[in-house]
Amino acid sequence: MISKTLTYDDVLLAPKYSEIRSRKEIDISNKLDDNITLRLPIIASPMDTVSGFEMASVLSKLGALSIIHRYATAEGQCRIVSDLKSETGAVVGAAIGTDKEALMRARCLAKVGVDVICIDVAHGHHIAVKEALRALKSDSCFDGIHIMAGNVATPSAVQALSDWGADSIRIGIGGGSICSTRIQTGHGVPTLQSVMDCAEVADANGVKIIADGGIRNSGDIVKSYAAGADFVMIGSMLAGTTEAPGRIITMGDRKYKEYRGMASAEAQLEWRGRTASLEGVSSMIPYKGPVLPILEQIENGIRSGFSYSGARTFSEFQSLAEMIQQTSAGQLESSTHIRVRYG
Ligand code: IMP
Repeated sequence: MISKTLTYDDVLLAPKYSEIRSRKEIDISNKLDDNITLRLPIIASPMDTVSGFEMASVLSKLGALSIIHRYATAEGQCRIVSDLKSETGAVVGAAIGTDKEALMRARCLAKVGVDVICIDVAHGHHIAVKEALRALKSDSCFDGIHIMAGNVATPSAVQALSDWGADSIRIGIGGGSICSTRIQTGHGVPTLQSVMDCAEVADANGVKIIADGGIRNSGDIVKSYAAGADFVMIGSMLAGTTEAPGRIITMGDRKYKEYRGMASAEAQLEWRGRTASLEGVSSMIPYKGPVLPILEQIENGIRSGFSYSGARTFSEFQSLAEMIQQTSAGQLESSTHIRVRYG
């Protein structure tokens, strides 16, 4: 039997009776663990065209989180984390891999006060992640540091990562805007479906889940929370902004910035000096200007989303939200569809 799967455009949320008179009455914050609460429950992807010092600095001021990417020397990455801790006192996350220098990098990050370490690999339901999680969890140097891991797409993977010690898990294989995993390997699960499938087992194990890959707007963010995600991770929504690492490229009278998958040929050549399995692409996206107004719009969209379901808090929203499936005619109606007529 072949399972049917749904993704963001396949669903909508049914509006509910609301007594909320202003979006200011709504508290959208959510807890990552007992020590970390995100006022704005979004997390910037650990990518070299998204999460560097400037992006993390702005996000932290709004109560969101960035995972500083691992495509730099351990010293370079630790310097960013340490600068952020002194300058902002912010909650800071940083990514590591599972190679032989990962534990050493994690120790340096712990020394400079990192709050969240993210074991960042494409296929997280894997022995290398099991070994990395066990190594971090058995070393007192990481006591009190939140350990995030991923990416995975199935309930059995969430169970496994939770058993291996993950505090939070990134959910989504193959859905990223710059991702070619599904084309290259035939594997993946639509992100929203993965979140719906994994939410129950995550809840039963007390582990937080993060919807990651394919989120394009605040509507998709709200749908992710409704499906059971505690947080969302976003790349393309933040890429192309002033604070995203990388320079502005002018072509004709237009400005662009690069946004690339970390498994793209361009990223692999820069960071490893060679290419192996290509599962991402690189693209130029129009320069968007400062990230702050974009984040404010995202926050307003989430607040309005909660209001349409009549919810004042994150947990209230998750219990009230009612997901419905729409047809392809519904999808057309759901996107702006004004037609200009002449004559
Ligand atoms: P976006 O928000 O749709 O742009 O997706 C961002 C997410 O894509 C990241 O958080 C990663 O999970 C994932 N990702 C980053 N680089 C690659 C890649 O090269 N191939 C596949 N997925 C990637």
